[in-house]
Amino acid sequence: MTRKRVSVVSGGAGFVPSHICDRLIEKGHKVICVDNLITGKTANVRHLLKNKDFEFVRRDVSRPFTIKGPVDHVLHCASPASPVDYLENPIETLLVGSHATHHLLEMARVKRAIFLLTSTSEVYGDPQEHPQKETYWGHVNPNGPRSVYDEAKRYAEAMTFAYHRTHKVDVRVVRIFNTYGPRMNLHDGRVVPNFIYQALKGKPLTVYGSGRQTRSFCYVEDEVEGILRLLFSKVAGPINIGNPDEFTVMDFAKMVLELSGSKSRIVHKPLPQDDPRQRCPDITLARTRLGWEPRVDLREGLLKTIAWFKQNLE
Ligand code: UDP
Repeated sequence: MTRKRVSVVSGGAGFVPSHICDRLIEKGHKVICVDNLITGKTANVRHLLKNKDFEFVRRDVSRPFTIKGPVDHVLHCASPASPVDYLENPIETLLVGSHATHHLLEMARVKRAIFLLTSTSEVYGDPQEHPQKETYWGHVNPNGPRSVYDEAKRYAEAMTFAYHRTHKVDVRVVRIFNTYGPRMNLHDGRVVPNFIYQALKGKPLTVYGSGRQTRSFCYVEDEVEGILRLLFSKVAGPINIGNPDEFTVMDFAKMVLELSGSKSRIVHKPLPQDDPRQRCPDITLARTRLGWEPRVDLREGLLKTIAWFKQNLE
């Protein structure tokens, strides 16, 4: 009898990882979701709690722990990911990028599991190469406020490849670009929930700085499809998974107003320190190695996200 594959997902109650848990369960895996809920939400996995193939463990993965029995995949997704959250939890963010990455790589080594790290476009910092290819080394302030996230993820990548080279652990590293969709935390301070919340509540949309800075937004279904294609490929990466359609924050604000039918005004607030001026993935590698590209354009994805936010505000 063949047994079900077992996937450990750290941070599995977070926005993107909870969708990863769903997809792995659909694919017939057993999922062990480990989360300390400092930014994750039980609501994101509540629908899975009665599923016999899903187990929720509340714990901080920055401290060592063991899992009984076989493990086939270790997906290390735990980390505060919104600037507001990681600035509120700077030490936890550094530890989950460093200590937790080490512990989970050890788990993967001992269990002979595939290890997947969810890294980030933030490893490119405020990029001087545009769009960003995986070969670009980045432009990061090593000790500014954002460094707690950027450097933690850069260290996590370094540790992952050190385990790959030294212990032959089979690894995958995905660099996630701005992702949005249902289950985003309404109050995590990121631009997508902020603008949608403000538009729906008739409050002014807060554009930081001039609004000329750019971001490229990927719908969560597309993002998760890319991550799973990477997991089931033979590609170690790092590999960018994101939507290459680039928008200024100001144009994004106008689109949210239009699609939500809101009459809110736009106001300007100070730009956070070290806020990247531009960000757009080069996804040639994902296209050629994984046969992946995003399918949902921003208007379509935003309409679905606005509908979800409306339901969840009620
Ligand atoms: N931003 C904004 N208003 C907000 C929240 C964010 O103008 O209410 C800007 C922010 O300064 C950045 C971009 O939107 O330039 C994306 O910010 P977010 O926090 O979503 O993610 P980041 O890409 O910076 O990690």
